[in-house]
Amino acid sequence: MEIIHVSAECYPVAKAGGLGDVVGSLPKYQTKAGHFAKVVMPMYRTKFLYNNEWVVDYKGNAFLGDTYFEFTIIKEKTNKLGFDLFLVDINGLLDREKIYGYADDTERFIAFQIAVATWLNAWEHRPDIVHVHDYHAGLLPFMFKNCLAFRKLAFVKTILTIHNAQYQGSMGWDKYKLLPAYDSFKWGDLDWNNSINPLASAIKCAWKVTTVSQSYMNELRSSSNGLELLFEYEKGKCVGILNGIDNEVWNPETDGYLYNKYSIKGVTLGKKKNKKKICEEYGLDESLPLFVFIGRLVGEKAADILPNALMNVLYHQSGKASYMILGSGEKQIESQLFNITTSNKGYYNTYIGYDEALSHKLYAAADFLLMPSCVEPCGLNQMYAMRYGTIPMVRSTGGLKDTVKDMGEWEGFGIRFNNASVEDIAHSVYRAIEVYKNKTHIEWMRKYMMQIDHSWEQVVEAYTWVYQH
Ligand code: ADP
Repeated sequence: MEIIHVSAECYPVAKAGGLGDVVGSLPKYQTKAGHFAKVVMPMYRTKFLYNNEWVVDYKGNAFLGDTYFEFTIIKEKTNKLGFDLFLVDINGLLDREKIYGYADDTERFIAFQIAVATWLNAWEHRPDIVHVHDYHAGLLPFMFKNCLAFRKLAFVKTILTIHNAQYQGSMGWDKYKLLPAYDSFKWGDLDWNNSINPLASAIKCAWKVTTVSQSYMNELRSSSNGLELLFEYEKGKCVGILNGIDNEVWNPETDGYLYNKYSIKGVTLGKKKNKKKICEEYGLDESLPLFVFIGRLVGEKAADILPNALMNVLYHQSGKASYMILGSGEKQIESQLFNITTSNKGYYNTYIGYDEALSHKLYAAADFLLMPSCVEPCGLNQMYAMRYGTIPMVRSTGGLKDTVKDMGEWEGFGIRFNNASVEDIAHSVYRAIEVYKNKTHIEWMRKYMMQIDHSWEQVVEAYTWVYQH
């Protein structure tokens, strides 16, 4: 099958979170399975762009409302990522360093989607599947069905994957002029709560909808930032498919970022050496269990309660553990987390920012990974942690619930708790410190979870099944 993935992120070109990881690996494994998978994304000004060779694939023009724009689609020359990669260049809109966070994000992503539809419309044949990811590509199923300029694409099968339903790209109806002319009787396909809602539109117009775990799909019907009823209406076409992880990138035996590579057999010593290095670098006590948090510092990840929770455990479990935070996000949370450093030297440190290499080093060095997320559609961090023999401590939600078994259960290897609260986090840290004293149990859990298979091969099959339907 020929599958076109349309996304705002794709690792290693540009990544802000799990979406980038998934779009960087799913097409690679689809190609290995015999499909022709391609990715098309905006041409941000990232390192990857400058460090690779490109050829021009298509030049076109279109209108964004009244504004005429020209765009160029370039293709990576060497198939470096294991699939065809196309970047859409639109001067003045996509030629930025960051992926999101600009005042004109609405215009940027609509123009990107118009360019993609114009490009596909110009092809002599039609792809089997156009697979759109999250709201940034969410207007495409509507455009294919209802825009006069794209009649040729009207019967192209579209799949929407929801990586995060919190972000919906909702905009006022005054923005309707930005869209190419469409059958105005179909305005209801764009509308949700009197706004144009790209995610809702994609749920209505795509042929199938997938979410990145089964539990998350169930949760969306009771909590999805206003779309609950829509998920209830459309549940017949929704399927939950747990993400995989790229075992070639995330492999402690070959990971070039690590101070010391290690296998399942050598996990105890291997992790110890990595921990020693990290502790030296960040001034932490290496003899204590090391807890890390890696992720976006936003309410969704429960990062807003993290400062209080950490101060609580640093006080009540004083001298019994070390903590390291890697993250960036809301400024207030960043400074609260940073400020704890001064009074807890030797036991606590932070790196405020985004650092891919450090994240790998921390997964390898840590004993425990803390993920108290309020919402977690799938969560990749806990799967990376497991692959590196790091015990995940997670709130029972979404994909965390589907991937982590509490150590109190038969063959359990993690720590689960119910509430994103200071009390539950503190109690979990206490449980972790206690179990850490039992070296045999810790080693058994590490070895057990490192063998769990979260590879993409089985996930590719699940997507193929959805495509075939
Ligand atoms: P989300 O997509 O909601 O951010 P996921 O768990 O699905 O959460 O994916 C997060 C990904 O982003 C992981 O690969 C994680 O290692 C990475 N990540 C998050 N924050 C940082 C950071 N500050 N530095 C490096 N990597 C980060």
